[in-house]
Amino acid sequence: MPTTVRALQGDITQLPVQAIVNAANASLLGGGGVDGAIHRAAGPQLLEECRCLGGCTTGDAKLTQGYRLPAEYVIHTVGPVWHGGDRGEPALLASCYRRSLELAAAQGIRSLAFPSISTGIYGYPLALAAQVAVSTVRAALEELADFDEVIFCCFSARDLQVYQRLLAAPPGAQPSSA
Ligand code: ADP
Repeated sequence: MPTTVRALQGDITQLPVQAIVNAANASLLGGGGVDGAIHRAAGPQLLEECRCLGGCTTGDAKLTQGYRLPAEYVIHTVGPVWHGGDRGEPALLASCYRRSLELAAAQGIRSLAFPSISTGIYGYPLALAAQVAVSTVRAALEELADFDEVIFCCFSARDLQVYQRLLAAPPGAQPSSA
């Protein structure tokens, strides 16, 4: 069965998927935006586990339990801060999506949801980030065929529109950004 890839609007902390991805910062010790929301919903044990991980470099990902979340696991990835696009941001952002999927596949996770990594506090333009997200996930799923569902969880209706437009286009129709 091919993996279902879809976008929806919602709060990622509420989603009944096996794993959610956190747009964390390099310390993995919590922050604002989706990171703060995930830590609040998961409870203090998440921070305790994160303290033992020794941080995470930009473009990489680390896995923890989900504690009080509906999701069993959280995959923490560190997106790039947007500096205008010529400091390797697209490749680093693509790496976040790829590494998260690799970790999930290695753990036998069958469903996961991504927030729109780097597009909040880190300032990555949504339209550009969404292109990277959709093209990277599509490419990675060609190799890692073991998922039932991958969700792009959009916080706003406007973000959802952008993702839905990209997902409606056939895979080759969008510029490859990584
Ligand atoms: P970054 O530092 O990587 O930019 P942010 O958390 O600031 O991370 O923003 C990443 C994206 O997550 C933004 O599109 C933001 O609107 C969205 N976001 C914030 N809270 C939530 C949430 N509870 N569920 C889903 N997405 C969220």
